[in-house]
Amino acid sequence: MSISCVNWNKLADCALAGECLSREEALAVLQAPDEMVLEQLAAAYRVRHHYWGNRVRLHYLLNAQSGLCPEDCHYCSQSKISTAEIEKYPLLAQSKILAAAERAQALKAGTFCLVISGRSPNETTFRQVLEAVHAVKSKYDLKICACLGLLNQEQAERLAAAGVDRVNHNLNTSLDYHAEICTTHTFDDRVETVNHVKAAGLTTCSGGILGMGESDQDVIDLALSLRQLGVTSVPVNFLIPISGTPLADVQSLTPRHCLRILCLFRLLLPSQEIRIAGGREVHLRSLQPLGLYAANSIFVGDYLTTPGQAAHQDWAMIRDAGFVLEAADGTPLEIDAEPPRVTVGVRPSV
Ligand code: SF4
Repeated sequence: MSISCVNWNKLADCALAGECLSREEALAVLQAPDEMVLEQLAAAYRVRHHYWGNRVRLHYLLNAQSGLCPEDCHYCSQSKISTAEIEKYPLLAQSKILAAAERAQALKAGTFCLVISGRSPNETTFRQVLEAVHAVKSKYDLKICACLGLLNQEQAERLAAAGVDRVNHNLNTSLDYHAEICTTHTFDDRVETVNHVKAAGLTTCSGGILGMGESDQDVIDLALSLRQLGVTSVPVNFLIPISGTPLADVQSLTPRHCLRILCLFRLLLPSQEIRIAGGREVHLRSLQPLGLYAANSIFVGDYLTTPGQAAHQDWAMIRDAGFVLEAADGTPLEIDAEPPRVTVGVRPSV
């Protein structure tokens, strides 16, 4: 297929009709020349607008337990093989988790993402997480997305019973490429956790990390796996190469390629909540607002071990580009000129 012959609007029609792009069409999206990116975004925006209008959702991340992980995910500063200088701490006290939830609410995040490092939580930590979920839910009007590593069916059901709304577990990359980025668990382990979450009646958040040295076919495979799993929410991370990790020197992304990836995800996952996640500021840079024409969600605040853009810049970006904020239930939210000065620390010091 000659890329110059591809009609991006026809691909949007196909996505809106519930049909899946062919592999050739998907590849064309990723391999189109830079000068076509605005046409691609316009097509992706038709799909995005059909399902999400001009609305943007904010999520807020708390790294509630950092480092000390026995796994070897090559992108991760918290893994056992990372020498990155990060803060390492066991599960935060409930008071600190509540303080972070307060900040999430102040920054107009609809979803509070409670993340802990590790392969999967031990029973003590798991119970403490359930107690923290109960405390947050009883005090704040926030959806909770828990990211706790690999989960069995019973754990997924206990999370649902405790009031967790959603569980995040990323597939990260394609089945074929997974062994290149992690050897301590498999792609199938990850899929199994997502299936446990679905079976427990929770909504699923699962996405990937792009720019880890994978091929375009791997990117397509990842998106198709997420489509097949029927996940609800899809975080699209762009690798932040962290010194001290095996992927520290991997640099394959350009701002416009990131936009093409976001367009592809919108065309293959038309109705899903697609979130521009980690690496937004580093890789999209001044093109960040364009990403919102394909995606409908971003994180506000910091990432797990790296800082994010200031909240007032995110709000200004959303407002200036003509988008509006919405709560997790779809209620429109006003954006103030400035976010409130919150004195609560985001990053706990331990
Ligand atoms: S991504 Fe999660 S499981 Fe993998 S090393 Fe980092 S904290 Fe551990």
